[in-house]
Amino acid sequence: MRPRNEVHIINVGHFRETDYGKIDANSTCTLIQSKLGVNIIVDTGGPWIKSKLLREITKIHKLDLEEIHYVVCTHGHPDNIGNLNLFPKAKIVLGYDIMNPGGVFDFHDWKSGKLYKITGTIYVMTTPGHTDLDLSVIVKETSEGTVAICGDLFINVDDMEDETLWKENSTYPELQEENRTKILSLADVIVPGHGDKFRVDEFELVADEDDDELHQSFSNVRLK
Ligand SMILES: [Zn+2]
Repeated sequence: MRPRNEVHIINVGHFRETDYGKIDANSTCTLIQSKLGVNIIVDTGGPWIKSKLLREITKIHKLDLEEIHYVVCTHGHPDNIGNLNLFPKAKIVLGYDIMNPGGVFDFHDWKSGKLYKITGTIYVMTTPGHTDLDLSVIVKETSEGTVAICGDLFINVDDMEDETLWKENSTYPELQEENRTKILSLADVIVPGHGDKFRVDEFELVADEDDDELHQSFSNVRLK
């Protein structure tokens, strides 16, 4: 047993414009090793980083692919789901679907906002906005506090101060803002969809003036 849950970023994603005006992207991929020995991958990257993923999991973290118990995809874009095929023994959580190895579904009542618990200190919650069905994985009791791995709810650290970055890629900006606020209130560290992790306390969160208590958002964010 480990004293704490561990969160390892095994691929730092990116999101940039090419010089010919297209977007070049790949997702951040994360390995969680729980205190109790449950191993979870969050987002698998695109198929083109397969060998990097294999190296990270098997050589650096010394895990057999069959020891990955869960794969959670924060949403269904190609750079989040491209290597599902590597994990034959994992339960796959994607959108509102939970599928066991072999193909049998588990039911979970996502629509009522119920959290999907993987362990007592690791759970999955819905945080839509970037797409219709986005998930975030919350890991409590790590050496850095509570870590939220939240896909494209946050693109990268720059979108904390430049909201065009996430808004331009959002299906439902208002909903996304609500869920960003939720995550900023509960996490010490955020693992974004296309960049390295960052600490929430590096930023000063200023609630909007016209917000009431129920509808608070932090669209004014400043680096401390
Ligand atoms: Zn996406």
